[in-house]
Amino acid sequence: MSQRKSLDNDCFALPKGTYWTPVDIALQHLKSNLNSVAGVERIEVSQSLSRILSKPAVARQNSPPYANSAVDGYGFAKTQVSKERKLRILPGQAAAGRPFQRVIPKGFAVKVLTGACLPDGVDTVVLQEEVTVQENFFILETDLRKGANTRPVAEDVREKELVLGLGHVLRAQDLALLTSAGVFEVEVFSMLNIGVFSTGDELVNTIGAPKMQLDKGTIYDSNRPMLLSLFRKWGQCIHDLGILPDNTDETRKSLDKAAKKMDIIVTSGGASSGDEDHISKLLSQEGKLEQWRIAVKPGRPLAFGFWKNVPIFSLPGNPVAAFVCSLVFFRPSLVLLAGGNWHDPECFFLPSAFDKKKKTGRREFLRVKVRKDGYLDCFPSEGSGRVSSLSWSTGLVELSDDLAEVKKGDLLKYIPYSSYYF
Ligand code: AMP
Ligand code: MG
Repeated sequence: MSQRKSLDNDCFALPKGTYWTPVDIALQHLKSNLNSVAGVERIEVSQSLSRILSKPAVARQNSPPYANSAVDGYGFAKTQVSKERKLRILPGQAAAGRPFQRVIPKGFAVKVLTGACLPDGVDTVVLQEEVTVQENFFILETDLRKGANTRPVAEDVREKELVLGLGHVLRAQDLALLTSAGVFEVEVFSMLNIGVFSTGDELVNTIGAPKMQLDKGTIYDSNRPMLLSLFRKWGQCIHDLGILPDNTDETRKSLDKAAKKMDIIVTSGGASSGDEDHISKLLSQEGKLEQWRIAVKPGRPLAFGFWKNVPIFSLPGNPVAAFVCSLVFFRPSLVLLAGGNWHDPECFFLPSAFDKKKKTGRREFLRVKVRKDGYLDCFPSEGSGRVSSLSWSTGLVELSDDLAEVKKGDLLKYIPYSSYYF
């Protein structure tokens, strides 16, 4: 386990009463109350994909480190071109990795290839396609500004400049940026160990030991393969902790064991206040649990709390709700716990291809698909058990709390699933 830092024990406590908390208030609450619980380590940039910077990265050198040519052409000093615009060509050339050693005298030009260090005396390059060479000279016909077709030193990054800030999640292109600025090691937050349980006597495990026939009253545990893979995309160490039976003693034992090794525990199912909702029962009696009454569809029941000081996120059992709540509530919480910055998923406004009535006073997330013509189709059923809707859809539409109706052609807030993967 990484060196865990502590969280305030009340960090999940939302306002009490019969009030249904709006999504924005719930998210604002997480944003203000969660902080990083992760340790830090130094790693090679080449190994740092999806990791989170625990210290800002500062450029060790200029990029590019020297002025160089952006094209294949002829380099010369713009200020020293004569009235006749005639430039004599020096023999030899400057190529990438093979600099030209001599200084270019007044009235001369030299062949320079893309990426070549500009020879001393050269500040401008003319494209080779724009030049007609006669014997050993050419007439400059194009009117070029000084510096044309060159890349000045430090044009991209200047030495000692801040390259990427604290909490930044590193992507492939960031690794290129760091490397170009001479940064080969970064300080990042250690990965959190996240244990994932499913709960329910009806569930049949399929991971590692698939059971081909179901007994009456049982279903396959489809949440666990989904949640394990979804969380893996978020760059932490994910542990499959199996299925908890609907039994308080067994649940207690498994949670105790998990709390010794994990930084975060996630469960799905059993989070309501029914007879067989052992997670919420146990956590409210012996741990710390906040039942989240969020005005959201799909969403209920959702509960956040602590077991032996380890944060526990108890997601709904219904697969659609488990998935949507993971994206909307767990993902931003996890990013903060792992050391990252708050990040609202990117959205796009696309026209609706459907009509729909909606209850006001709650946020709704619809499973939608972008059609080839750019309009959004909505999955025909709103059932929270319809796993096929998740697989069919390309993202979610977020309908605001006070909206009562969607009409064909209305612009809707579309969040592609890819927006949730950093
Ligand atoms: P619960 O929240 O435990 O009452 O579960 C709500 C619904 O989700 C029930 O129909 C469960 O059978 C179903 N469910 C719970 N966990 C899973 C799971 N891991 N995979 C598929 N369905 C589940
Ligand atoms: Mg259950």
